Amino acid sequence: MKTDQESLRDPRLAQALAGALHRAAPRRPVRIVHVCGTHEITISAHGLRHLLPDKVTVLEGPGCPVCVTSTVELDQAVRLATQGVAVCTFGDMMRVPGTELTLDQARSQGAPVHTVLSAADAVELARRSPGQEVVFFAVGFETTAPGTAAVLVDDPPDNFSVLCSHKLIPPAVEYLLDMPGTELDGLLAPGHVSTVIGAKAYVDLVRRHQVPVVVGGFEPLDVLYALVLLVRQMADGEAKVENAYPRAVAWEGNGQAQELMRRAFHVCDASWRGIGEIPASGLSLRTELSQWDAAMKYEIQGEQGQEVAPGCRCADVLVARAVPADCPLFGVGCTPLSPVGPCMVGAEGACAVWYRHGERPVV
Ligand code: SF4
Repeated sequence: MKTDQESLRDPRLAQALAGALHRAAPRRPVRIVHVCGTHEITISAHGLRHLLPDKVTVLEGPGCPVCVTSTVELDQAVRLATQGVAVCTFGDMMRVPGTELTLDQARSQGAPVHTVLSAADAVELARRSPGQEVVFFAVGFETTAPGTAAVLVDDPPDNFSVLCSHKLIPPAVEYLLDMPGTELDGLLAPGHVSTVIGAKAYVDLVRRHQVPVVVGGFEPLDVLYALVLLVRQMADGEAKVENAYPRAVAWEGNGQAQELMRRAFHVCDASWRGIGEIPASGLSLRTELSQWDAAMKYEIQGEQGQEVAPGCRCADVLVARAVPADCPLFGVGCTPLSPVGPCMVGAEGACAVWYRHGERPVV
């Protein structure tokens, strides 16, 4: 008997869905964006782009949380660490280039930088080390924000604080849809984020922009099925939200996680690396929690750093105006062992995924 995962990777069913995709696709060229590193991994690792009709293009937008964390925020974390504050963050952030140093380089110079799996690990470090100031550098989308919120509303120790760089996906997608040169016809919405915010979170976006949105899961058949629903909407001239991942995503999302986020954060404008400031696309700590706000505690000032290195096309990759192979440095001057831009660093960065899986589709 097949496991659930084997069933969702069944080659015969994949071929059947590819056939449905070809039959349903509109005759005009269409560009679909997804905003999720895990979707890109599934698409690239399983060669799904090779099953697409010629006129259907699937691109990754700003779906890698590490890639879109602004240099200003990263430089702030590095600065705190070099001043002796213990900075805790996720492993993927360690090698992301800052203006002068990565967190990893700061650590190699003796700065107290720690890799953690969650905000709770950082709180644990603060409790174990009462004489040491500990900052959790909180990055990621609606998927990781509830974990940060949970520790903030649970009365963490005084020597703990949060440098908050959480970002929100729907405002970023809207920004992309408005951006000249992106010409996007539909959104494959991220399953992870949608488990928290629910499929209903895209309703306003669809109403305002008249683009089809389908929430998709992460196995090959999940992605293909979501793409079939998307191209069907396009061919029929429809624009609505559909949920192709109901085994994980509810229409309303996760109410408990949403409530935690409401108690801990308010929505603010946020700077996205390579993209710039997007209104109402970030989270910052509520005033009543300001004693744990590292930006206030350390009076951090934002200074504009170097967002992308000369020659690096991350800024275009992150807004679906280019694919990694369009960058002259891809695989030559820039590799996962020697990354030039943020998209080559994290496991979910488009350039790193393409490098690992040899993706070279024509756009
Ligand atoms: S290949 Fe490297 S330099 Fe080019 S866009 Fe990607 S991360 Fe930037």
